[in-house]
Amino acid sequence: MKLKTLEISGFKSFADKTKIEFMSGLTGIVGPNGSGKSNIIEAIRWVLGEQSAKDLRGTKMTDVIFAGSANRKPLNRAEVSITFDNADHYLKSDFSEVKVTRRLFRNGESGYLVNGQDCRLRDILELFMDTGLGRESFSIISQGRVEAIFNSKPEDRRSIIEEVAGVYKYKQNKDKAQKE
Ligand code: ATP
Ligand code: MG
Repeated sequence: MKLKTLEISGFKSFADKTKIEFMSGLTGIVGPNGSGKSNIIEAIRWVLGEQSAKDLRGTKMTDVIFAGSANRKPLNRAEVSITFDNADHYLKSDFSEVKVTRRLFRNGESGYLVNGQDCRLRDILELFMDTGLGRESFSIISQGRVEAIFNSKPEDRRSIIEEVAGVYKYKQNKDKAQKE
């Protein structure tokens, strides 16, 4: 499974439709302060089902919609699509390419699509469950979270490493079995 493209339109500072194609290997996003680097990461979190406006640096969810600039009017809709190469069927889908879309209108109307079909948030969460990619996973670590990890107690830091390494769930099972 591989991240192929990200399409952003009307989301935060991305008023115009912007398509980012990810090549194989490591991708770095660089740019001056305020140019939209974090907004790109937030677009990924958002399309994967982020429900917290605060974690997207807003107060209400419609704050993610392009709010206008000196020479542009605000927009009415934010839309983000993310496409994965799923030839190995790592995501539980029959499609060899999976495209997830989320949109939100200023009147609060919203929805998700998978390969063009309407679906529920639950379907999105299920699709990414146990893939290490869900909205709560460690595959996206924000600036603030890095600091929190550095400043955490050794036990807490260890459990983070265990979770990333995939041993956390086995330890939980072991603890449960010992209590029984
Ligand atoms: P830094 O290097 O400081 O971390 P960055 O490249 O990560 O910067 P972002 O935080 O992604 O920058 O972008 C911030 C910009 O996005 C600000 O100029 C802000 O006004 C703009 N922005 C955020 N939300 C919206 C919105 N809803 N509509 C229009 N612009 C927005
Ligand atoms: Mg930033």
